Amino acid sequence: MQRLNTLPADLVTSVNVHSHVERILPTDEAYALLELVREIADAELAPRVDDFEARGEFPRELLRTLGRVGLLGLPYPEEYGGGAQPYEVYLQVLEELARRWLAVAEAVSVHTLACYPVAGYGSDAQRKRFLPDMLGGELLGAYCLSEPAGGSDAAAMTTKAVRDGDEYVVTGTKAWITHAGQADFYNVFCRTGGPGAGGVSCLLADAATPGIEPQARERTMGLRSSPVAQIAFDGARVPADRLLSEENKGFRIAMSALDGGRLGIAACAVGLAQAAVDYAVAYAGEREQFGRPIAQFQGIGFMLADMATQVSAARALVLAAARLRDAGRPYGAEAAKAKLFATDAAMRVTTDAVQVLGGYGYVADHPVERYMREAKVLQIVEGTNQIQRLVISRALTRG
Ligand SMILES: Cc1cc2nc3c(=O)[nH]c(=O)nc-3n(C[C@H](O)[C@H](O)[C@H](O)COP(=O)(O)OP(=O)(O)OC[C@H]3O[C@@H](n4cnc5c(N)ncnc54)[C@H](O)[C@@H]3O)c2cc1C
Repeated sequence: MQRLNTLPADLVTSVNVHSHVERILPTDEAYALLELVREIADAELAPRVDDFEARGEFPRELLRTLGRVGLLGLPYPEEYGGGAQPYEVYLQVLEELARRWLAVAEAVSVHTLACYPVAGYGSDAQRKRFLPDMLGGELLGAYCLSEPAGGSDAAAMTTKAVRDGDEYVVTGTKAWITHAGQADFYNVFCRTGGPGAGGVSCLLADAATPGIEPQARERTMGLRSSPVAQIAFDGARVPADRLLSEENKGFRIAMSALDGGRLGIAACAVGLAQAAVDYAVAYAGEREQFGRPIAQFQGIGFMLADMATQVSAARALVLAAARLRDAGRPYGAEAAKAKLFATDAAMRVTTDAVQVLGGYGYVADHPVERYMREAKVLQIVEGTNQIQRLVISRALTRG
């Protein structure tokens, strides 16, 4: 433990954080992969996170490095350069990344989501043409569904694509787009038909297309190294061969991409919450009040026990949903439950971690205030937790 010379000797200024999560992985290859990811996270992510978050800089080069070692295409087929890993392994990789730097884990999750429309619904020619560079990390992706007038009611979107010869002319504004201005390609969900979900198509647009203009970055509460902005489409001409699946079949793509994406967000929440537990446990073992470590007070010890239990429960829910997906079974409602529970747990656990540190939890000298700010967004993105409840209750009442 390092102590600053000018501070009283009993002040805890940093702690030795230990984390040990028992994992059962399906193959020896997966154990080796998780070990590699831990090494990369310790060597490349942990030393940079504070600086990049403070400056609000997106670590694009780091993402390229993750692409080169194969972490940007883990759940996709090997023939296109993917890792052919089960989702349960991919999600545990995300968890390890999120434990060190949530914005990087979220970037991997969003990129993986953005590869899904081509991988799942593209033609053979589109897959061959686009996937190798996407999965290798040369091209970074973004997913453009939300609009300024509506995120939850995505089917009410107004961004329009009108066919003109061999092109679509796209006009409208997408909002809250992660990787805006950094991405090389955008999945653009836009209206090609009548109102509602049945009139939506999915286009794969090059970011460099004239008429696609990322706007000023949002000033976010947390995840400051992750760029988020509106994107204006002002008569942008997208070649017609960039249509994924068929005209007016795009909403199904958006929703099925989100099922997998929500598990990614849930795994990020588990990693973030685990980091908060680890830090709070280490701090409570070091910090003394009334002549003994605060961990020895039952009020703190029980709080730590509840925090750790919530993280374990969240992880179990995430992996159970992932295994359904890996088995080819319907998993949308289970993904919604996992996202709802894991992100609510992350919010509670990170808030409690601040409480365990007392006043020191409220300042940026320790990472728990950042964890708490970061947890909040996970309850909002890829469908708010109210919308997750809607998904779950509809599945229940459908029987
Ligand atoms: C940092 C960040 C990154 C994001 N990244 C992306 C991205 O990459 N791509 C993308 O497309 N979007 C992205 N989003 C958008 C995100 O998915 C939306 O913010 C979210 O879906 C909510 O939409 P909204 O903000 O318009 O809120 P609204 O839909 O206006 O909702 C406002 C409130 O009303 C509640 N509500 C709405 N409808 C119902 C209902 N039927 N029942 C009960 N409650 C309801 C909501 O839960 C919420 O509490 C991002 C958002 C943020 C903050």
